[in-house]
Amino acid sequence: MKTKKYVYFFGDKNNTEGSAKMSSLLGGKGANLAEMATLNIPVPPGFTISTEVCIYYMKHGKYPPNCKKQIKENLKKIEALMGQSYGSTKNPLLVSVRSGAKKSMPGMMETVLNVGLTSSTIQGLINQTKNKRFSYDSYRRLIMMYSDVVMEKNNLSEVNIRSTLESVLHNYKKQTGHKDDASLNEKDLINLCNKFQKIIHEKLNSKFPNNHMQQLESSIEAVFKSWNGKRAVEYRKIEKIPNSWGTAVNVQAMVFGNMGHDSGTGVAFTRNPSTGDNYFFGEWLPNAQGEDVVAGIRTPHPLNNHIKKSSLSLESCFPLIYKKLNIIQNKLEKHYNDMQDIEFTIQKNNLWLLQTRVGKRNGRAAIKIALDLYQNKKITQKILFKRITSQHINEILLPSIDKQEEQKALMIARGLPAGPGAATGQIVFNADKAEKLYNEGKKVILVREETSPEDVHGMYASEAILTSRGGMTSHAALVARGWGKCCIVGSNDIQINYKKKSFKTAENIFYENDWITLNGSIGFVYAGSLKLVQRKISSNIEYNNLMSLCKKNNPMKVRANADQDTDALVAKNLGANGIGLCRTEHMFFNPERIKNVRKMIVSIDENMRNKYIKKLLPYQKNDFYKLFKTMSPYPVTVRLLDPPLHEFLPHEKKQIDELSSELKTNKKLIVEKINKLKELNPMLGHRGCRLGITFPEITKMQVSAIFEAAIKLKKEKIKCVPEIMVPLVGSLNEFLNQKNIINTVAQEVFKKYNLKIKYLVGTMIELPRACFIADKIAKHADFISFGTNDLTQTTFGFSRDDIGSFLPDYLSKSIIDKDPFSTLDKDGVGELIKIGVKKAKKANKNIKIGVCGEHGGDPNSIMLFDKLNFDYVSCSPYRMPIASLTIAKINS
Ligand code: ADP
Ligand code: MG
Ligand code: MG
Repeated sequence: MKTKKYVYFFGDKNNTEGSAKMSSLLGGKGANLAEMATLNIPVPPGFTISTEVCIYYMKHGKYPPNCKKQIKENLKKIEALMGQSYGSTKNPLLVSVRSGAKKSMPGMMETVLNVGLTSSTIQGLINQTKNKRFSYDSYRRLIMMYSDVVMEKNNLSEVNIRSTLESVLHNYKKQTGHKDDASLNEKDLINLCNKFQKIIHEKLNSKFPNNHMQQLESSIEAVFKSWNGKRAVEYRKIEKIPNSWGTAVNVQAMVFGNMGHDSGTGVAFTRNPSTGDNYFFGEWLPNAQGEDVVAGIRTPHPLNNHIKKSSLSLESCFPLIYKKLNIIQNKLEKHYNDMQDIEFTIQKNNLWLLQTRVGKRNGRAAIKIALDLYQNKKITQKILFKRITSQHINEILLPSIDKQEEQKALMIARGLPAGPGAATGQIVFNADKAEKLYNEGKKVILVREETSPEDVHGMYASEAILTSRGGMTSHAALVARGWGKCCIVGSNDIQINYKKKSFKTAENIFYENDWITLNGSIGFVYAGSLKLVQRKISSNIEYNNLMSLCKKNNPMKVRANADQDTDALVAKNLGANGIGLCRTEHMFFNPERIKNVRKMIVSIDENMRNKYIKKLLPYQKNDFYKLFKTMSPYPVTVRLLDPPLHEFLPHEKKQIDELSSELKTNKKLIVEKINKLKELNPMLGHRGCRLGITFPEITKMQVSAIFEAAIKLKKEKIKCVPEIMVPLVGSLNEFLNQKNIINTVAQEVFKKYNLKIKYLVGTMIELPRACFIADKIAKHADFISFGTNDLTQTTFGFSRDDIGSFLPDYLSKSIIDKDPFSTLDKDGVGELIKIGVKKAKKANKNIKIGVCGEHGGDPNSIMLFDKLNFDYVSCSPYRMPIASLTIAKINS
């Protein structure tokens, strides 16, 4: 039987066994070391123990059969290439033992350098290098790393050996008057090595091993174990990396950057990772080893003189080596066709490469780099789109919290990430107060159990909104997303006490005016005011170029959900192809208008209703005029009044008193009428087209306003195409009733002005029954638009405003795997949509099909709409770029 191969060698072009393609087996680091070796780039020889060994080790607590033998054979190969031997007291080979998973997990796992140094091999190293200082510097580094990575992890006591030794080093330097590590001499280092070994023995109850083989084997095992270390597990959860992958281990001949002033080490990027600018960028330190640059022990110097001439740059100090490095970095970027992050070490004027990987970058740099590579024909359009993520787009559109500050901040609560971005402000519990403080120039965060349309002015005035109840499509979430505002909803961790103007968390209590900071992209709430990083895209050429490339690849148009001309302008600037949903109720809640709405509702007969509703006509006409004009020449879908009547009713005594005196009606009668209109289940009650059917004057008024506005624009030679949408239709006759009113009013207005305009009449499909009768509806409709928020609500029977009380349990117990209000439920709601689309197209092959629920902006849901050949998706303006990118990804 052939024995399984567990270990892969890398050295030079002729004896390297791995390649970049093998990253599942060799991890990213190992695969790329092999690739570099094959490219004739100088890499210290070594071997990679595959991820399969890690998986085996995790399961059985030991190496698979034959693995140790393969390790020994490969160690011999390194020895042969280096002309040294492991454990020798004359010319000892030293190695590093490095972790490396398929995807890079920076700083999450362990690495040990200088493995193989013992009290006997160190004599060999001193003989070989004639450098006692260097030898003991390497020894003290090994002792520090090994005791931390290998010994402490195997020890049950709670000692933090690393920080214990760090502070011994720190105090020693202070007592002896040394400024930094580099100025310690050989005597100091010998002293430190002895001190360290003594402390380790005392604290960890075992001796630092003086056997080179034991050091190697234990280091390898420690790296395997670090895969299941706390940090690594947490990181994988966030990055969605499967636990089953395991890490590879690289054992590699040491090269030394700490051999004196002709040596050094550094980290570099082939392009600037925060701007994407195309120049070689990085830092280095003379006479230093490995992690000194990243660890911030000394301040590193710039790599080159690109931005500013520096006498300490590598380019100035070692011009020849810099030239070599520059050639290599060019070669690497060309080879991988992506920005690389590389590690290098100089040992006595010899350059060695120790790592290359795809460099992490922020949103701005990601777009710039991908576009640049595409324009230079290095990558295809498909790859360009693939390299830009939703996260990148959010980063450039929205503010975020300074990364360093966020890491140190105190998290006080978590909730659902309803509105991405970040915000900081002072707590306020009431919308009026929020507006007042805003007018005084203060930054506030509105904290409420939930919000209602009456809070909208306060929401607008706030930097962000935090609610303790409600789901991803609750009122607060929808409104916030429409404005691109940061918002966290359903945070069960906070308990609000409106009376005391405070909220409680498990450990703290916060009062009005206290500062908090929200990260709406992940749903974290922090105490205090953290620094934010702001970004402006309006002038970003790269963003605009990316969006126009996306549009060229998009068979599905992207529209915005926008209610006002100001929102429409934002949407247009972000690239909207029209408005897919204008919710007209927001036009009703304006304080000047709500009174007339209330009078209309409590009216006793049609005449009286007509009188008050007509007062809204000029307002609505002006609203539509501005909206259509802003969006011209693109279409605007206007939804007729939809929310439950009860939302408009006055609740407070003051409002009721005012109403009764203005209407000159007995207060008792009004209260009676209000009570009569109250509903137990308003979301399933008197709303949607049911309003327009029972109060046809509302539909008439709204439709007159739409056509009057459109005619006015026509006279001004401005193009507009109104699409009138009837909400919550469940039976054909509901639709026909409203369509009839719409057409009648249209004819009246056209006659009045002796002008005609083109318009469409359609309906929102948001009830299961509507999906089943979509063919009947489609015969009479110009378009249908799936209202997936209500469709999800009515399919599951979940109230979207109350889902917060059980959704967390449903998710943690895996009853459902995703919040169906964020990502479309394919099996249920998706099936209904499929049925609806099929039936509608069969009955009317020209019917236009869209979606205007929040799912229109969700990448996973968009896949389904694309498959069903929708004409458009419509979503909040700030989600449109992600929608557009997603469609381009699917179709390129
Ligand atoms: P990480 O994944 O945390 O970057 P690495 O395995 O890359 O860990 O190693 C940490 C540091 O040690 C890096 O700066 C690396 O360049 C350096 N290093 C690793 N192996 C060697 C080696 N054989 N010779 C010299 N330096 C090394
Ligand atoms: Mg590390
Ligand atoms: Mg590294």
